[in-house]
Amino acid sequence: MNKHIILLPGDGIGREIVESAVQVLKAVAGEFGHTFTMEEHAIGGDAVDKFGTPLPDTTVKACRNADAILLGAVGGPKWDGVPADRRPEKGLLGIRKALGLFANLRPVKGFPSLLHASPLKESVIEGSDILIIRELTGGLYFGTPSERRDNGNAVVDTLAYQREEMERIIDKAFQSARLRRRHLTSVDKANVLESSRLWREIVEEKKQDYPDVAVEHLLVDAAAMKLITNPNQFDVMVTENMFGDILSDEASVLTGSLGMLPSASIRSDGTGLYEPVHGSAPDIAGQGMANPLGTILSAALMLRHSFGMETEAAAIERAVRECLDQGYRTADLDTQGGQVTGTQQVTDAVVENL
Ligand code: ATP
Ligand code: MG
Repeated sequence: MNKHIILLPGDGIGREIVESAVQVLKAVAGEFGHTFTMEEHAIGGDAVDKFGTPLPDTTVKACRNADAILLGAVGGPKWDGVPADRRPEKGLLGIRKALGLFANLRPVKGFPSLLHASPLKESVIEGSDILIIRELTGGLYFGTPSERRDNGNAVVDTLAYQREEMERIIDKAFQSARLRRRHLTSVDKANVLESSRLWREIVEEKKQDYPDVAVEHLLVDAAAMKLITNPNQFDVMVTENMFGDILSDEASVLTGSLGMLPSASIRSDGTGLYEPVHGSAPDIAGQGMANPLGTILSAALMLRHSFGMETEAAAIERAVRECLDQGYRTADLDTQGGQVTGTQQVTDAVVENL
C-alpha cells in the first residue's frame, strides 16, 4: 500500500523520537512491501519560532491531505512568556479541532519485563490489556456558557452533547471491541446526569448492531475503583470527554512506565494523529537519551487504526517487547533487569528485531 504520512516533530525531544519512529516505519515498509511517503511540517513552539504561530496554515493544509499524522511533542519553558494565542499547546488543540479528531484511543498494556515497576502487584496487573476510548471534542470542556456570574461568586460550566456526537464515538468503540476481545464497558454517571442517560440509551440501541460484542455499563466512580482492584476485567472502555480524561490518566500509571504509552486521536474515515502520551521533556532534549518507544508504539497504532495493517502493527509491538526483554532501557525506565542505553541503540534494537 502507498500511504502519505505527515511528521510533526514539534519541540524538545520531539525531533529525536519522531526520527526513531521514522526509522521503524521505513523498516516496516521494506519488510512488508509498502511505500510510506513522509513530509515534515512545523507545529508548537518550533512553528512559533519559524512562522510566529503554533499552527501555520501550511501545516493544517498538509495534514488535511495526509493519510495519517505522527506527532512528537509540543511545548517547553522557552515559550512560557508568549501570548495566550501563541502557546505551543494551541497548535495541538487546533489541529485536532481542524481535522475533527473526536476519538482518543489509549491502549494500556504492560510489558512483562517492566511490570515490577507498576504501583500494583504484578499478579494484579499481569495480563491486563485495556483500550480506553475517550470522546475528545464535546462535553464539559467545550460547553457554553462557561462563566462566572454574580461578581464572581457563582460559576457555570455546561455539559452538552448532540446525539450524533455520542453515536459516532460509541460506534467506534463497538468496532474496536470487535477487533479485540469483544467486550465493551461503557462508563457514565447515569444515576445523576441527563447526558449519561442519553449516552446509556444510545449504547443500548447500538448493541443491536453488534450482537457479537458483550456490553456492560459501569458508573464512573465504580470504574475508577475497578481499574485498580481488577484491571484484568476490562477490554475496551468508552466514555465521554472528562471521565475519559481522568480514567485514561489513572490507567496510564498502572503499567509503571508512562514513557512507553502511545495514543491516537482519530475520526470515522480513519484519518488520525498519533503521539506518545508523555510531553516534550525539555530537560533531556538533544542528549540522545529520550525513550523513543512511546512514539514507535504510536506508529504501530497508526498502522493498525489508519491503515488497517494489523500484522505490521503487531510486528512492531513484538519487536518492542523483545527489545525490553533483551535488557535495553532508556534512563527514564526502571533499570532492574537491564542497563541504560541511548535513543539510537534502542531504535536499532527494535529495527533489528523487526
Ligand atoms: P506535558 O505538559 O507536555 O505533558 P510534562 O510536564 O507532563 O509535559 P514531560 O515532558 O512528559 O512532562 O516530562 C516529565 C518527565 O518525564 C521529565 O523529567 C522528562 O524528562 C521525562 N520524560 C518524558 N518523556 C520521556 C521520554 N520519552 N524519555 C525519557 N524521559 C522522558
Ligand atoms: Mg503532562
